[in-house]
Amino acid sequence: MANKFVLYNTLSRSKEVFEPIFSPNVGLYVCGPTVYGDPHLGHARPAITFDLLFRYLTNLGYKVRYVRNITDVGHLENDADEGEDKIAQKARLEKLEPMEVVQYYTNRYHKMMDALNVLPPSIEPHASGHIIEQIDFVKTILEKGLAYESEGSVYFDVEKYNQSHHYGKLSGRVLDDLLNSTRKLDGQDEKRNPFDFALWKKASPSHIMRWNSPWSVGFPGWHLECSAMGTKYLGERFDIHGGGMDLQFPHHECELAQNVAALGHESVKYWMHNNMITINGQKMGKSLGNFINLSQMFDGSHPLLVQPYSPMTIRFFILQAHYRSTLDFSNDALIAAEKGLDRLFEAHRNLAKIVPSAQSSIDVEGFSQKCYDALADDLNSPIMIAHLFDMVRQINSAIDGSATITAVGLTELKRLMNLFLNDILGLKPEATGRSKNADAFAGAVNLLLEIRQEAKLKKDWATSDLIRDKLKALGFDVKDTKEGYDWKLSI
Ligand code: ZN
Repeated sequence: MANKFVLYNTLSRSKEVFEPIFSPNVGLYVCGPTVYGDPHLGHARPAITFDLLFRYLTNLGYKVRYVRNITDVGHLENDADEGEDKIAQKARLEKLEPMEVVQYYTNRYHKMMDALNVLPPSIEPHASGHIIEQIDFVKTILEKGLAYESEGSVYFDVEKYNQSHHYGKLSGRVLDDLLNSTRKLDGQDEKRNPFDFALWKKASPSHIMRWNSPWSVGFPGWHLECSAMGTKYLGERFDIHGGGMDLQFPHHECELAQNVAALGHESVKYWMHNNMITINGQKMGKSLGNFINLSQMFDGSHPLLVQPYSPMTIRFFILQAHYRSTLDFSNDALIAAEKGLDRLFEAHRNLAKIVPSAQSSIDVEGFSQKCYDALADDLNSPIMIAHLFDMVRQINSAIDGSATITAVGLTELKRLMNLFLNDILGLKPEATGRSKNADAFAGAVNLLLEIRQEAKLKKDWATSDLIRDKLKALGFDVKDTKEGYDWKLSI
């Protein structure tokens, strides 16, 4: 059986043995998307990282309640307390109801997550569906004296909180340093202190997403939803809170402070953060021209891409790096991942061709232990994948007769390959290892070549030659083989 799961806790900055608060139940909360644009590469990494965690914990026998929220209100431009709501802005630009924007991009997000074989969470709460819970949270923080009302808005009093707690403990910041590096407020501001953050904002006349509250007609601050929904669905104390490293500050820092202020204690036992992705060594950003949507990855339509990359290639590529390392997307690296994944699935299929022996030179049990050890060490998927490739070499040796495996060993190896590849890493075979577009494309070429085969059988040489010559003119290299035909695109 597996070793104890050890995970890196951002809060303690060290690896800790995972001990759930109410074992075998595990509470897992992950910050989901703000649904105002098409899902992009930056959405794929946290989704896949915490999908691996969800699958792994479930495989260990834990009963995981996985909550991943949808942010559909309160996330303002530049993650700030001023400016337009990201969703309202999109609605205004496209002349839609804000909830139409939310529904459209939530559907798009689900579609992309399905393609990446990311399992749906147990609960997917919307911020806009939990306004009452958020108002109650603000009331409690006000009662505790750690927030103040100003011009119809309510702000968290960071300085006061910091007198008895450490604001900045999650992200490793110290409030005095933060204050020294920030502009002083000019007295015109509603806030007492530049680091105070909004719990409730009074809506300006043009702000269309608005609710009644004791303080004003307005909307909740962005950080509040995760405090309110995490507490509602996972309780005052729960095991794991995850998200991208970019959310550590201010989003998770503020969430932690809100919970301590309202509940009198921290809620989260282990904080986990996945690292960022870069594109050709550069940070991904709309202004940098290297912002790639997942749909563009899958159909290859972004100018930086030399070909489409299938959802499983993207998934495998992300899993080939440890979640706490940065990950650079480049065509070379993605093409290598595509080939690697093909090799894994080829070996998986080849298991059916192995003839068992009386003796075994393949150590199936050792292989299983090494894979479990890698996962138990803070989800070390790249090491696990290295062990899978080592097994690929042994499977290929078993086929050419230079390695042996017993019937019992072979049955177990098949079970393990299914378990590790499909169930835990969440990789599933794709028809050609390429995108759906490429599948359709290959299907059409195969169809033409099937028609050509039939024509040949009927000695209809004219049709047969016509198909071959036309395909050749289009750049296809068609070969007749013993089994029928083979082709590749020679351009
Ligand atoms: Zn959140």
